[in-house]
Amino acid sequence: MHSSEAGSIHIIGGGLAGLAAAERLCQSRRTIAIHEATAQAGGRCRSYYDQSTGMVIDNGTHLLLSGNHAALSFTEAIGSRPGLRGPDDAQFPFIDIASGEQWTLRFGDSRFPWWVFDKDRRVPQTGVVDYLSLARLVWTSVDKPIGKLMNCGGPIYDRLLEPLLLAALNITPREGSAKLAGAVIRESLALGGQACRPLLAREGLGSVFVEPAITHLRERGVAIVFEDELVELLFGNGRVSLLKFARQTVDLGVNDAVILAVPPYVATNLVPGLIAPSSFRGIVNAHFRIDPPAHLPPILGVINGTCEWIFPLSGRISATISDAGRLFDMPRTELAQTMWNDIAKVTGLPTTLPPWQIVRERRATFAATPEENARRPTAETSWENLFLAGDWTQTGLPATIEGAIRSGYRAADLVDHRLRAAA
Ligand SMILES: Cc1cc2nc3c(=O)[nH]c(=O)nc-3n(C[C@H](O)[C@H](O)[C@H](O)COP(=O)(O)OP(=O)(O)OC[C@H]3O[C@@H](n4cnc5c(N)ncnc54)[C@H](O)[C@@H]3O)c2cc1C
Repeated sequence: MHSSEAGSIHIIGGGLAGLAAAERLCQSRRTIAIHEATAQAGGRCRSYYDQSTGMVIDNGTHLLLSGNHAALSFTEAIGSRPGLRGPDDAQFPFIDIASGEQWTLRFGDSRFPWWVFDKDRRVPQTGVVDYLSLARLVWTSVDKPIGKLMNCGGPIYDRLLEPLLLAALNITPREGSAKLAGAVIRESLALGGQACRPLLAREGLGSVFVEPAITHLRERGVAIVFEDELVELLFGNGRVSLLKFARQTVDLGVNDAVILAVPPYVATNLVPGLIAPSSFRGIVNAHFRIDPPAHLPPILGVINGTCEWIFPLSGRISATISDAGRLFDMPRTELAQTMWNDIAKVTGLPTTLPPWQIVRERRATFAATPEENARRPTAETSWENLFLAGDWTQTGLPATIEGAIRSGYRAADLVDHRLRAAA
């Protein structure tokens, strides 16, 4: 592949950051190519056919909130927004598996967190004053572990902050970055129910985030090349001068730019001197082939169980466990049975295991500690035509779909700005 006179933009990595960057740039006159190392786009957010259950499953059930404005804009742009569905209002039913107690957090539908002032909607056994701890997170100026900033105990922590922040940060909240937790709260709970409505790609991540993006981009002339792994970047005169892929090389002209949207452990091998997060946390997902009982809410939070979230989907029940490193060495059948036992308990279904699949993603997200958060680079690099994107770059958010898409948009805007200035 050769560069065009008007300028080519090479996006390395076809995860959501790369797809979002291409979506932002595809109206420009420039030649755009996405180079993806694997045979499939979507990266850590993908669907695939699973032989053992005979179903199309996701690598992990991804939860979004209605306040994830970049993710919603992306799905609007590629025409798949209706595929993100959730309950009509911002409610989160919970069950405590140890005590059997059940409750529902109802955040209402306003743009202000009125739910805090309503004892029937806030967390059981909490008063308004308890919510001041949220303000401490929202306004923290220095980053430190959440456990050093607030008391990680009591009903508000056990029943609201721990499940929310564990899911959003993918780390035991007491170890997690207070700044990232503050950003999550600022963009969700603090904005009232309008920003907290849960949304799921109920028919699969691929049909909402990946396949429509590929169709949309190809229709607009973007080349998407699979099994095209970048193995080396060559530099000269303060720029990237050549891209070496496993099966081709691309010389870069003066108007060409690169958006590197690969995971951090790949980027640090390609970019000299790049500092990036280097420790990670895993996520476990289980998918059980069975018709979910009609009484199960669309999303159920579980306290004191092994499963943390249970999702009834079409023809299956899926469950998620965040920061799940402790479960990565457990024999797979034992893990499936342990998770199914939780589901059987809350649904009343028999404990006999239905057909199942366990997906363990060891490096699901960078570890959202203050130390790792401080290692996140900006999108700009010291090379004038090289920009970084990915959920691990400095987005101000934890590693999420929202962060990945914002990072892609940011890198695209910088490329556009740089190339316009140079024209
Ligand atoms: C199990 C699981 C559950 C999750 N749950 C949620 C959730 O509930 N809500 C939420 O918002 N987020 C969730 N996330 C996080 C979300 O999936 C990620 O933040 C997002 O997908 C990251 O996108 P990305 O484009 O930054 O990176 P990636 O998806 O990692 O994309 C990078 C791409 O680069 C490609 N690549 C790598 N090396 C090369 C190379 N040398 N050349 C070319 N291409 C290369 C990779 O194959 C990949 O396609 C979850 C993640 C996992 C794993």
